[in-house]
Amino acid sequence: MVSSLRSTTLPYGIVDRVARLVELVVDKLTRQRSMRGCLRGTPPQYFTLLNIRCRLALLQTVSWVFQFLSTHPHVDYLFKLMRRKQFRGVVFLDRDGVINVDRRDYVKSWSEFKFLPRVFEALKLLKKNNIRVIIITNQSAVNRGLMTLDTLLEIHEKMLDAIRTHAGEVQAIYYCPHTPAENCECRKPKPGMVLKAVKDLKIDLTRSYLIGDSEKDVELARLVKVKCVRIPKKALEKPSSVDREWTPERPILGRSLREAVNHILDDLKLLVSS
Ligand SMILES: [Mg+2]
Ligand SMILES: [Zn+2]
Repeated sequence: MVSSLRSTTLPYGIVDRVARLVELVVDKLTRQRSMRGCLRGTPPQYFTLLNIRCRLALLQTVSWVFQFLSTHPHVDYLFKLMRRKQFRGVVFLDRDGVINVDRRDYVKSWSEFKFLPRVFEALKLLKKNNIRVIIITNQSAVNRGLMTLDTLLEIHEKMLDAIRTHAGEVQAIYYCPHTPAENCECRKPKPGMVLKAVKDLKIDLTRSYLIGDSEKDVELARLVKVKCVRIPKKALEKPSSVDREWTPERPILGRSLREAVNHILDDLKLLVSS
């Protein structure tokens, strides 16, 4: 509070410096005019010298103005907006255990699909920050014969509807219907789904993140070299903190999707608001 108050006040020094610059420019202009009229014989070096002095002063003032602006909260906000516009990364989300409650016997119908707490809030925050969200999920229940593909698509349709009504957005869902025995290229931890998304949706993988709850998600993040937040299956008691050495090889922990999103926004130095 104190620091923001201090930085919104215009420092007196700046006003003084700008005034001095204006004085210098006016001085230069009047001299040039009078010189043109009366001192036709003045050596040209004299004008060059004046120009250099003026330019130096201007440069210095510009740097003072920048110094002042960089501490101003509104300008800081503008820089954040600019960073958001340029961002081509995405956040890959696992589904079961991240968006909805996981079940040992698989989520096989919409009635078994239960959203986890604060998920809508987290997705809304990502949308607010212009960060695309892509779900990648293993759904072997389909090829195990426990649920039809139509049911899976229906669950996803309803899930997306609910997310949209809460002001969130998911750009795409990639699912793998295969069983481990089928040895497909898409079942996590294999990177098939991520690579397909990168191809389809112009994703900058070097600036992307993955949030998941299983060892497979962590392994996938390591393979495609994206930073990973793991939401442990057993809830953490205390809020997690970001390890300074957050790399694709070393995932960090988050208590919920909301906390994971906060870590990512912090890492990107983007706007964090509730
Ligand atoms: Mg999971
Ligand atoms: Zn597959």
